[in-house]
Amino acid sequence: MTDTPTVPALPPVADADSWYEVAADRPGLTLIIERFVDDFLQANLWLVQGDDRAILIDCGLGIVPLAPLVQRLTGAECPVVLSHGHLDHAGAAHEFRERWGHPDDEPRSERRISLLTADHAADLGLRDGELGTTGDWLISRIPGQCYDPRAYLQRPAPLTRRLLDGDRIQLGGTVLEVLHLPGHTPGSLALFDRDRGELYSGDVVYDDELLDSLPESDAAAYCRSLQRLRELPVERVLPGHGAAFGRDRLHEIIDDYVSAMAQAPSAASSDPASSGPASSGPASSGPASSGPASSGPASSGPASSGPASSGPASSAV
Ligand SMILES: [Zn+2]
Repeated sequence: MTDTPTVPALPPVADADSWYEVAADRPGLTLIIERFVDDFLQANLWLVQGDDRAILIDCGLGIVPLAPLVQRLTGAECPVVLSHGHLDHAGAAHEFRERWGHPDDEPRSERRISLLTADHAADLGLRDGELGTTGDWLISRIPGQCYDPRAYLQRPAPLTRRLLDGDRIQLGGTVLEVLHLPGHTPGSLALFDRDRGELYSGDVVYDDELLDSLPESDAAAYCRSLQRLRELPVERVLPGHGAAFGRDRLHEIIDDYVSAMAQAPSAASSDPASSGPASSGPASSGPASSGPASSGPASSGPASSGPASSGPASSAV
């Protein structure tokens, strides 16, 4: 539904610098978030600085320019690594000269996406309220008086480096292993710092209901990806949304998902450990999988396709 003339207008942000909140996590690791974005779309942007270079993992909606802030923090341009192509992770990618990600999630085309909550839910094939948010808008400020949040634009950002499973990103003193973990999207990636036991998980895993019912999601593949993660010596998860968590919680989330998957009537197999081509997801392929606003029939609510674990959806895209 787009017939909402009574939706209250949003106030402009007082100063653009206030859009981003920057917090040190540990030496060499900085968390950036977009302060005026609803939890559903508020992604964690992880700035990882090694001895030789830095990378930014995900880049948010890009409503306010991000690259100048990152350059101020690092003293140089740095690549952005896209955990996947959704707007809340890849929206500012066009600002960066180097854009790395998996080819199955390349944000190649322009997408106009409404940030009106009701519109956005409809675009994702969810019912009103299923985003787990109560506000009319998915942002609470606009960058200027003329900004129309119904006309948010995700700009094309072709990859300059294709990351594949097993690739290693050398930062100097820090090495990140690339894990291709499809399910949430076909090209979802996580980066694993094996020396520290730290996993940058994007939307593969976070501490909330895992979103596997988007048109491009594949619940069976998701299940296999999570089982793969369970075998890794992860000590700390730095997710794409919400707070960091440890190994025990990671295993709980995975076990909950896998057991729900095994019980779901739509599961591809009653034995989630079985391999083979994924078949239960509504659409597991297709080159341009990156936009949650892609149209097409909704896959149904979280209840039907996903082993979603915990009540009404409040997770992220
Ligand atoms: Zn996502």
